[in-house]
This record gives sequence, structure tokens and C-alpha cells, in this order.
Amino acid sequence: MTSRRRMCASGCGRPANVCLCQSLPSAPIATATQIVILHHPHEQRHKLATVPLLSKCLANCHVIVGRKLRYGDSTLLDSLHDHPQLFRPALFLFPGSDALDVSQVQSSSCDVLIAFDGTWKHAKEMMHASLPFLSKFSVQACLDFDVRVDGDNIFNSHSRLVLRKEPFSGCMSTMEAVARCLRILEPNGVDIESRILTVLKAMVGFQAHFLQLQQDEMNIE
Ligand SMILES: [Zn+2]
Repeated sequence: MTSRRRMCASGCGRPANVCLCQSLPSAPIATATQIVILHHPHEQRHKLATVPLLSKCLANCHVIVGRKLRYGDSTLLDSLHDHPQLFRPALFLFPGSDALDVSQVQSSSCDVLIAFDGTWKHAKEMMHASLPFLSKFSVQACLDFDVRVDGDNIFNSHSRLVLRKEPFSGCMSTMEAVARCLRILEPNGVDIESRILTVLKAMVGFQAHFLQLQQDEMNIE
């Protein structure tokens, strides 16, 4: 038990026995796209949160902890709000029939990508609460294979055990969805996507392995 408490403080920030430093990029990946993630406060406390990992993978990943995006939270979003004519419309990721299909967006045509990180229910609440602000400068977009609702994604085959556990499924889909979007939006997106998914796969692998050990602990929380 003692060794499980030891943290990789100077690296990935995870417990030392599930350290992902080997999988992380040697330096955060630079992207033309600025990524803004609204991170639900509950996710922050959750030990399986993946947003801290994503922000270690990406140089331009801005994490805002809260339940709502509003004016004053981010100088980046504020400048989009104040000077929408200076930017291409930002994209906020959320599935919906009216949402723009990200795969139809041209490479290098989006400056800012916004994502909501939380359980499916929380993400929906955060999106609706943020809409009055977001709608001033961004449009809704989704991946045609955005499957957060039913939780089915490429990692299911890797470990159904891990994915069944809310809010992990939601968190992981956020990391995966950002990777998928960057593949389309960035000139060297295929490489970026693959480097992010490598980290995610390593994390899922650890999680499947340690789930049994963690089960008791998680039930107590
Ligand atoms: Zn580490």
C-alpha cells in the first residue's frame, strides 16, 4: 500500500506505480490550435482524471476548473468575445444534430477548440450554462464518431471494465476527442493524435491492471 501512495511529483503527477512519464512526449507538443477545457470540479478530485495528462501532452492546453464558461475566466476567450472579427470562429465540442462535423473542417482553419470535461450529465449542464457566452464567438462541433453517450469507443475492446466506470468514460472520451480533432485541425495532426492516444492507451492499460486493487478503495470514496 505504501508504494501505491508514492507520487511521481516532478513528472506525470500520477502515483509512482502507474507513472506515465515514459509515454508522455519529451516536451509538450506545440499546436496552432489553442485548446480550452472546462474541467468540472468533481473531475479534478477524481483520481482517474485525464485532463492533467492532456495538459502535459499539449503546450497550448488551457484548463479552467468550473461549471460554466463566462466572461473573465480566460483572457483568450475574452479576446474572442471582444474581437470576434479578428479570429476564425472557435469550435466547442458537443454532440448534436445541428453541430458541425469536425471532419468537414479544413486543416488550420480553427484557432480555438473548446471541450467540456465531466460525466456526460455534467458536460451537458456545463455546455448549456456556457452557451450564452460561447454563442457570441463559437460554433458547436462534433466528431461523427463522437460516442460519449453510449460510451462505445476504440478502448472498449481494450478494457470494458475500465470504461464502465463513470466519470472515467467521460474524461477519457474528452482526451480522445481532443486528439481526434487535432488530427483534423493540425497540419501534422496524425502524429499529434497518435502521440496523445499512446498516453491514453498506456493509462487504460494500467487502469485495467490495477482496477481490482483499486476497487475497494473506490467503493469507500
Ligand atoms: Zn511519472
